[in-house]
Amino acid sequence: MNAANKISPNAPKQRAEQDCHSFQAQLPELFDTDTGVTGHPHLADCKDCAALVRDLEYIAAQAKLLLPLHDPSPTVWNNIQSALSHPDEDSNHKNA
Ligand SMILES: [Zn+2]
Repeated sequence: MNAANKISPNAPKQRAEQDCHSFQAQLPELFDTDTGVTGHPHLADCKDCAALVRDLEYIAAQAKLLLPLHDPSPTVWNNIQSALSHPDEDSNHKNA
């Protein structure tokens, strides 16, 4: 008659807010590392911060698309842009 015991009785209902606070304070640094954010143990523990990180990663990915700081080479972008703006002339350019 103790079905409720399957849910661990000692699970903390309130996470220490300081954990979240200090974790989020570290986020900018964690994002800078390769191993960084997603492997952080706090995320396994805290759905709120996991969701937050997912949002931030999405935003960061979008921001990189908008602001290509690690632009591989201007030629690549020129090729992309000309391919986008002149899709029909593509075959004309391939003379080499
Ligand atoms: Zn948290």
